[in-house]
Amino acid sequence: KELPSDSNLNNTRRQVHNACFSYVTPKKTSNPELLHVSDELLNTLSISKETSQTKEFLDVVTGNKVLKDTHPYAMCYGGHQFGNWAGQLGDGRAINLTQIRIVDKNWTLQLKGAGETPYSRTADGLAVLRSSIREYLCSEAMFHLGVPTTRALSLSLTGDQVMRDMLYDGNPAYEKGAIVCRVSESFIRFGSFEILSARKDYNTLQALADYSIKHHYPEITSSGKDKYIEFFRLVSEKTLEMIIHWQRVGFVHGVMNTDNMSILGQTIDYGPYGWLEGYDFDWTPNTTDRQQKRYRFGNQPNIGLWNLLQLANALYPLVEEAKPFEDILNQYKIDFDAKHLEMMKSKIGLFEKDARDTLLIKQLEENLHFTETDMTIFFRKLSEFTSIETEIKTLPKCLTEAFYKPNEVKENIKSIWLDWFNTYDQRLLSEKITHQERKRKMDLINPKYVLRNYMAQLAIDDANKGDYSLIDELYQLLKKPYDEQPNKEKWFVKRPEWARHKVGCSM
Ligand code: AMP
Ligand code: MG
Ligand code: MG
Repeated sequence: KELPSDSNLNNTRRQVHNACFSYVTPKKTSNPELLHVSDELLNTLSISKETSQTKEFLDVVTGNKVLKDTHPYAMCYGGHQFGNWAGQLGDGRAINLTQIRIVDKNWTLQLKGAGETPYSRTADGLAVLRSSIREYLCSEAMFHLGVPTTRALSLSLTGDQVMRDMLYDGNPAYEKGAIVCRVSESFIRFGSFEILSARKDYNTLQALADYSIKHHYPEITSSGKDKYIEFFRLVSEKTLEMIIHWQRVGFVHGVMNTDNMSILGQTIDYGPYGWLEGYDFDWTPNTTDRQQKRYRFGNQPNIGLWNLLQLANALYPLVEEAKPFEDILNQYKIDFDAKHLEMMKSKIGLFEKDARDTLLIKQLEENLHFTETDMTIFFRKLSEFTSIETEIKTLPKCLTEAFYKPNEVKENIKSIWLDWFNTYDQRLLSEKITHQERKRKMDLINPKYVLRNYMAQLAIDDANKGDYSLIDELYQLLKKPYDEQPNKEKWFVKRPEWARHKVGCSM
């Protein structure tokens, strides 16, 4: 039921029953300022550049103006956080404004950091500049890398100060408040189903499943229980596809809780994410997960499966039969092995079939793990390697240039690497395409430019001092991650030593 828009009653924190969302009003900001807008996404949404420069646009994307006949809302969802059921979570600092229909697609505009909602629990519903820059730059960079993701239309300052950490002296520390306008066809999560199932509210559960199928999976034509099984199968396939992309580009999400899993298989919620520097399966950017390392790089595919199991449990009441879900979850494992192998092969330019490729990839991954080797540089430069068909006696430059500590690589490790390159060299002989053609294909799979953790940090440090130019520079760079961009080579370098322990931030 709708409440008057000037009422703040509807924002009272509470458990929300028999519903998927609550109407809310974004908080007014004192002195909003547009820092950046994604021209590419403006285009997709048919919003002109001129419109994006108006006061009205600024007011809408900072929550100061609610467009006529629109009814902003926050969504109710639950979730498993770090493996434990957390109960009701919901959009604690996200407010959905409205949808824009372009041809046959609906795009939801959502403000992140626009104030309290019934789901804010103990927090303030706000976002700070540093986390907003990270989300803004990374979600657009992921899109241009070809990784399924929610998008970001704009990055704005609110003009308000937001309290975050307490300083050691007990005084609060303030940071600049900011709002990102996120965009996606849907922000429905696994947790949106889990909360309804946990409450045994099967009517709303079914309504949400039917809604999701009607609007986001119109290709599902089966009826009755079959349609929910089909829905789960497609979500499972899309989730796997997304995670294979993450492994391809070296993206570590950092908080793969089920409330952060989109039913569209899009990367959602850019919190403590990070990018691999050294190719390290055990790495996680999330400092709160440093002990258990649940969300480490090498565990993302398993967590995807675990999360899908939670979604299966949530959907079970609509089907009341376990077998179809089990079959789909088993298929995920089979598909993962096949797709992961295919993806890794494509990264090293192998497109023909060879039974020994699984071993070749496994050995490569082990070698990369032994020696701290920059993932992006190694795979990108590997396309320059040309088969010499005689024994290779020195390590190729694509490798040595990617080592973080070239002088510390022991002789026995060097010889393991030489063995690998010799096997690889031989294997290239059974490829049917020319070196030039292989290079072209590999360079479309292995990005040259990614948002390295220290790069985002540099943009944040400058922005905190009032200089926003690096945001645009990185935005432009990351629009063409597979292009050479010769005048941008300064971003195609290993992480500097000062940034070794720099990690992401979530709040
Ligand atoms: P996350 O770990 O970012 O997925 O957040 C988990 C839950 O906490 C979600 O329900 C968020 O909406 C909520 N949350 C995170 N930060 C804030 C905040 N500053 N204010 C209110 N809710 C928040
Ligand atoms: Mg979240
Ligand atoms: Mg978050």
